[in-house]
Amino acid sequence: MKRLTDIGTIKQILIKYGFNFSKAFGQNFLINPNVCPKMAEMCGIEENTAVLEIGPGIGVLTCELAKKATKVVAIEIDKRLIPVLSETLSDFENVKIINDDIMKINLKSLFDSEFLGMDVVVCANLPYYITSPVLMRLLETKLNLNSITVMVQKEVAQRICAGAGQKNSSSISVAINYYAKPELLFFVKRGSFMPTPKVDSAVIRLIVRKTPVCEVLNEELFFKIVKSAFLQRRKTLINSLNHNLNLSKDILIKALKILNISSSSRAENLSIEQFAKLSNFLYKHFNQ
Ligand code: SAM
Repeated sequence: MKRLTDIGTIKQILIKYGFNFSKAFGQNFLINPNVCPKMAEMCGIEENTAVLEIGPGIGVLTCELAKKATKVVAIEIDKRLIPVLSETLSDFENVKIINDDIMKINLKSLFDSEFLGMDVVVCANLPYYITSPVLMRLLETKLNLNSITVMVQKEVAQRICAGAGQKNSSSISVAINYYAKPELLFFVKRGSFMPTPKVDSAVIRLIVRKTPVCEVLNEELFFKIVKSAFLQRRKTLINSLNHNLNLSKDILIKALKILNISSSSRAENLSIEQFAKLSNFLYKHFNQ
């Protein structure tokens, strides 16, 4: 089998299939031969593990996953890549390619039809234009999923892996920490891709929690509060929530006092438990 990280091989494929890279689909293909075996090694494949891959491209990571996993299901939005993948993955009987959009496909039905009785992990070199929505969709759908190992933009990786209450935390770090335990695995230089992107990357692993890290009475309100709090991160929490959610300052001052949170706190000062307590307090207050 030809090496799919080889620039000559990629060029042959481009010519044979008349393929050109789509910026809109975030198409930067891996040409560093060390990255995919490392991702496949670290993504938690054990006996009877199935892998869901998002955006297989020409199949460079898919091959490495297929060598280790019982089954690989890969979702690719670009229909021009389907005939390419039929050729590059023809040696593997345990791979299924689905031409669909990861943001639209019914994930629950997919898991029921493809992964029944199996341990499932996600492993992917994500298209960066939808990193956060994809991660949130995978986590919010509450699938039977052990872990998510993905390549993302370096800065996004650092933000996701910053615990709540740390300086570079953000709404995405709080939201992801609610569902999963994130860890940064390794960095990948921009020269590892073709075409070369403008940013460096990193591989992160999210170990999905069996139950969320803290008790939240109303998840919709919790995420609304977290998002609004970080919208203007330089403002105090009171001013942010007053401005973005139209919550009365008096109620917010009262809530922070009862919860023992300083009234001058900004979003980045709050732990995830404090966000949960604030959202639970406000939920009870407005539902009395
Ligand atoms: N896995 C390949 C690699 O590592 O070389 C390609 C990774 S490339 C960064 C992202 C891939 O995701 C592309 O193949 C692109 O067509 C696909 N993609 C983009 N948006 C998608 C979506 N909404 N659903 C499924 N696949 C998508």
